[in-house]
Amino acid sequence: MTCKHCHNGFLDGRFGQDVECVNGVLIDIDEAHEGVSPDVVRPVAPCHPCWEKQLSDPDGETWENDSIERLEAWRGAEVSHG
Ligand SMILES: [Zn+2]
Repeated sequence: MTCKHCHNGFLDGRFGQDVECVNGVLIDIDEAHEGVSPDVVRPVAPCHPCWEKQLSDPDGETWENDSIERLEAWRGAEVSHG
């Protein structure tokens, strides 16, 4: 899945060589596909509505990080595509 907000998800590698936007979550694309550590909260991507809040509050004390739910939804879509 690509992201129309983040230059097709690749983000020019500025968050790490293989780190891309996956449904609004910053994650190593290989980890995303392999389902590595599905219970780990990930940082959100620049297109995420809470991106600005994350910049000032990286610990997420004043906003809700829904990265786990977003990755689950993304994996669900992947599966249904076969
Ligand atoms: Zn994005």
